[in-house]
Amino acid sequence: MVTNKSVVPIMSMVRTFEHMYGVVFLMERENGQFIYRYISSEAKELASLDENFVGKTLKDVYPDYISAHLGNLYDQAWRTRNPVVVQDKLNMKLVEEIAKLVIIPVIQEKGELRYFISYTERIISPQESIVDIVTGLPSYQVFVHKLKEKLQRIQNPVVVCYIKLGQASNQGPYPKEFDQSIVISELAKRILHALPEQDVELARVIGDELIWVCPVQQDTIAWLKEVQQTISTPFYVNDCEVTMETSIGVTTPEIGVHSEGHVINEAYHAMLQAKQEKGNSIKVFDLNRQTEMMKAKPSIERELKNAIKNNEFVVYFQPIINTCTGTIHYEALLRWFSSKLGPVPPDAFIIAAEESGFIQEIDAWVIEKVCEHMSKQKEEAIRVSINLSTKTFESKELEKMLLTTCMNFHIDPSLIELELTEHTLLEDEQVLIEKLRSLRRSGFKVAIDDFGMRHASFNYLRLLPVDKIKIDKAFVQNLQCGTKEFHIITSILTLAKKLGVKVTAEGVETKEQALMLLRASCDELQGYLFGKPVPNEVMGKVAKQAKEQWNLLKTEN
Ligand code: C2E
Ligand code: CA
Ligand code: CA
Repeated sequence: MVTNKSVVPIMSMVRTFEHMYGVVFLMERENGQFIYRYISSEAKELASLDENFVGKTLKDVYPDYISAHLGNLYDQAWRTRNPVVVQDKLNMKLVEEIAKLVIIPVIQEKGELRYFISYTERIISPQESIVDIVTGLPSYQVFVHKLKEKLQRIQNPVVVCYIKLGQASNQGPYPKEFDQSIVISELAKRILHALPEQDVELARVIGDELIWVCPVQQDTIAWLKEVQQTISTPFYVNDCEVTMETSIGVTTPEIGVHSEGHVINEAYHAMLQAKQEKGNSIKVFDLNRQTEMMKAKPSIERELKNAIKNNEFVVYFQPIINTCTGTIHYEALLRWFSSKLGPVPPDAFIIAAEESGFIQEIDAWVIEKVCEHMSKQKEEAIRVSINLSTKTFESKELEKMLLTTCMNFHIDPSLIELELTEHTLLEDEQVLIEKLRSLRRSGFKVAIDDFGMRHASFNYLRLLPVDKIKIDKAFVQNLQCGTKEFHIITSILTLAKKLGVKVTAEGVETKEQALMLLRASCDELQGYLFGKPVPNEVMGKVAKQAKEQWNLLKTEN
């Protein structure tokens, strides 16, 4: 909250905007940086911010490509001393949602300009609109629907591109009288012309941003460069030469894996990253790069706080094949689609959740969602493995919480397997053994995850009452006859067999790995070869594929 005397009238303006639009920020420009001075409560909710953000700069809060995007808009308001109005998808929770972002420079007495009020007005496009009036293309809602359908068709890999129009760097701003919708409809025409003829969906998301999905091309980048070239041929509007430059964000989604919202979000975030470069630019969404960017930012912890409430988590399921019976069970793996950060990989957010104390709440939420899903199975009951973090495992309430949730959804605990990592197992041995026994007496199965990654692994196997161990994918991925990994795996299997403990190998990606594990009598196989983690809507399809793959393997063995 701002208390400086000269600012009081500004605060009353802020309140007025807050009354009208809800989502309002007051920013102050200091040394070329924009600092949050006030954040309305609706804004906190929408953008997952809290009081701690007051006093922070855009750069402190967001990954670089987002702070640069927002910083440019504030800079524009500062340079031109005029309001900036943009339509934007940033921070919107649902894929269909878009907002109008308005930044108003507050010019004070003597012409001083340091404060900016910005507000966000949601644009809810009418559900029934089928056509976009500017371009004549199908509406964005139609696109979202079509994309959803395409993502469910297993055989046809697609590429999704999010494109934003930019001003050519050698041109000044368009003259005032200039009708931008002409440029946008020309852009749409040119894109359509440059795309393959079959199986293409193109739509305008908002403003000068379009999105398309089409079958995967041979060399995506080379192909997109050609598309950009075609778009960049100069043309004339009202005697004014126009050259269009574009930033394209690309993603090639795994079919049947991600929701349409997730895929659009990936392409959109890649576009924002592309936009940081001058001229025509292309960026492919890269999960590893995203992980690095996320790890560096403290904002991830603050985002996490609201992730459950904002419905940003989804439980995915990955099939696991039993090599004796050919039956399938699943591992529940959490996915986070942050409205602000984009899709955040578990390796980045689970650690942050452990450090910031949200992990117990998150684990409990996963347990509840899994039970809820299990309870909806009509034909056959399914078995599911759930990951528990150390903090959750250490909680005295764990068993009670598990039993209560099972009871609420009428789930037999023996259908649930709890996966614990080795570092969970560092507490007092006796306490640990008693806890594991008690969980097993209640019916739950217990597995040690990431087995082999620590030196004490074999010791644990001897000591602890568990049903199963999961060999870490690091071993499986380097598995070749005669290698160190091969010997480690065979000795794990031999010892486990003697102790009556089952063994799952995770990270199985190739037929060769699977055959080798099969010949070494590994009990269960899990990995991309059989299926990636997917949302529950496509579990059935993925299970079917996994079974087909398994039958193929058996004939080769
Ligand atoms: P994890 O328990 O070891 O899970 C297996 C990881 O391997 C998953 O990564 C899975 O997607 C990935 N994977 C499966 N098959 C293959 C394959 O063939 N090749 C490769 N390269 N990877 C494969 P994911 O989903 O990114 O999860 C990472 C870690 O995050 C998990 O490792 C687990 O420790 C943690 N995690 C995920 N969901 C939850 C959760 O609900 N609660 C807790 N506490 N931790 C979770
Ligand atoms: Ca696991
Ligand atoms: Ca693992």
